[in-house]
Amino acid sequence: MEFPLLNTLLLCSALAFCPSLVRSDVSGTDLPDFGDSSGSLISPTQELEFGEAFMRSVRAQATLVSDPDLTRYIRRLGDRLVANSDAPNYPFTFFIVQDPSVNAFAGPGGYIGIHTGLILAARNESELAGVMAHEIAHVTQRHLLRAYEAANQLSLPTAAATIAAILLGVATNSDAGIAAASAIQAGSIQYQLNFTRANEKEADRIGIQTLGRSGIDPFGMPSFFERLYQSTRLYGVANIPEFLSTHPVTTDRIAESMQRAEQQGRGKELDSLEFQLERARLAVLLADDASAVLQEYKALAAKSSAGPADHYGLALANWRNGASDSARSELLKLMKSDPDRILYRTTLAQVLQDSGQQKEALALYQDTLNLYPGDLVVGQYYAAALLQAGKAEQARDLAREMVRDEQARTPAVYQLWAKAASVSGPPWETNRASAELYYLNGDVPLAVDQLEQALRHSDVSRYDQERIQARLEEFRQILAERAKK
Ligand SMILES: [Zn+2]
Repeated sequence: MEFPLLNTLLLCSALAFCPSLVRSDVSGTDLPDFGDSSGSLISPTQELEFGEAFMRSVRAQATLVSDPDLTRYIRRLGDRLVANSDAPNYPFTFFIVQDPSVNAFAGPGGYIGIHTGLILAARNESELAGVMAHEIAHVTQRHLLRAYEAANQLSLPTAAATIAAILLGVATNSDAGIAAASAIQAGSIQYQLNFTRANEKEADRIGIQTLGRSGIDPFGMPSFFERLYQSTRLYGVANIPEFLSTHPVTTDRIAESMQRAEQQGRGKELDSLEFQLERARLAVLLADDASAVLQEYKALAAKSSAGPADHYGLALANWRNGASDSARSELLKLMKSDPDRILYRTTLAQVLQDSGQQKEALALYQDTLNLYPGDLVVGQYYAAALLQAGKAEQARDLAREMVRDEQARTPAVYQLWAKAASVSGPPWETNRASAELYYLNGDVPLAVDQLEQALRHSDVSRYDQERIQARLEEFRQILAERAKK
């Protein structure tokens, strides 16, 4: 049985640093100006490059959740909020970090990371959306400029790696791949990454507006903050949720955001079935003890108040415990009342494939792709299933088709393409796909190596040669930039 989520090791969650709860407000009253110390601005192109380098560092340093359904959910929620933010055209990217601490962060270039611990701690969609809207506001209000200033003192890749390490909480871990940055540099950037109290209040205020405009209950933010705050009083400062250590919450701040929420008015969406389903998915797939989580969902689904998410969780837990028949019948029941839901369909197809009903599984994927043409999540599952069924040619076609869409250019899809090409394509195509995979995972030297290998093959068409050459130049430039410092 294959769980993309579980294939990767859990990242060590020991928090390497713990900034003090209350940050001084020295530079908080004056908003950062748009220039660095030498008076030059960070250009949109630089910002974009910085963001991409940051994301590569994140991929190299953390375990990201690659589960296509969960990834899609968090992106959709993020996009909905961005569309109603102050910068609807800014290119945000949302991703999930496999880390049990309750945390979320905004990195350069609009890369917003949400920890699995935070999704599990949120009780409804508006609580999760509240934190996301808050992080979006840090970006739209340019609160990250101080980090950019700090980055100007280092080379871009070093700054990106350092900031990633700090935000992921692995700053003092010597294995984190930030050897290039001295502890002092990391320390000074750490200081500059901490938002001021004025920043925090502004992010609350703007975030609540975004929630209201998105039609999501604005009380999600203050109620979640309050719950986190209460939990620290209950469990002590040692067990403080990570989010609070970087986002100090006070009774004053909660009261203020309550007032702001009041202004937005009630009567908006508090929750969604999708959130509850995805959260159940996360809870079951991440659970250390498969049989315990099955017992838990058996109890939940037996309650009179049980909803679809409880039954979906039960189906998944059954599947994790090898009870495919029970999983299948549970999913079929869910599909009876909600036949077009992609999550039910892809989960059922996975269960079918796992229990040897390959033909039925492939047919269900194809049917779902017909229902949702070009759907990336379905495509990804389908390509993997085709590969598993020995239909590498078809998988390769599908993967190549998918990466035409920028959204599909993820490590998972390139990995599928590389695998499929290694079975059914020319060898250079495997090199080409692997190069993108290495690049996205932050290993540029290996990416270069792959493209150099690709060019050594004699059967590469002129057109492909040119494209590979151009990409190779881009990678080499990144390496040259890195070597500067
Ligand atoms: Zn904040």
